[in-house]
Amino acid sequence: MAKERKIAAPHPNPETQAYWDAAAAGKLLIRKCEACGRLHHYPRALCPFCFSDAGSWQTASGRAKIYSYSVMRRAEVPYAIAYVTLDEGVTMLTNIVDCDFDALKIGQSLRVVFKPTADGAPPVPMFTPE
Ligand SMILES: [Zn+2]
Repeated sequence: MAKERKIAAPHPNPETQAYWDAAAAGKLLIRKCEACGRLHHYPRALCPFCFSDAGSWQTASGRAKIYSYSVMRRAEVPYAIAYVTLDEGVTMLTNIVDCDFDALKIGQSLRVVFKPTADGAPPVPMFTPE
């Protein structure tokens, strides 16, 4: 049987609590800046484009495409780390899971999956081919 890779538990803070609560409910959130209207990720209090703190949460579709990826084959349990571009246009650093790493392609369509972590911590959003 294949070894399961252990996924590090996230540590929510006041800036990210809503994000992790949503992940626990199976939803992927992104931030929308109400000052400049742009979307961004990872979650943070200040907009990275205009530094406004007038942000709000938006539920993402959970659909994305591979922008770039790298397969870590020397790890005890090999894994694929990737930048994916969400349908909403935001790029996110994540892992691609539950698939044949040799079949991955730039531009491939993905959907979000939430992977459990240790000790009752929130699950982590990752992506798998559609
Ligand atoms: Zn902004």
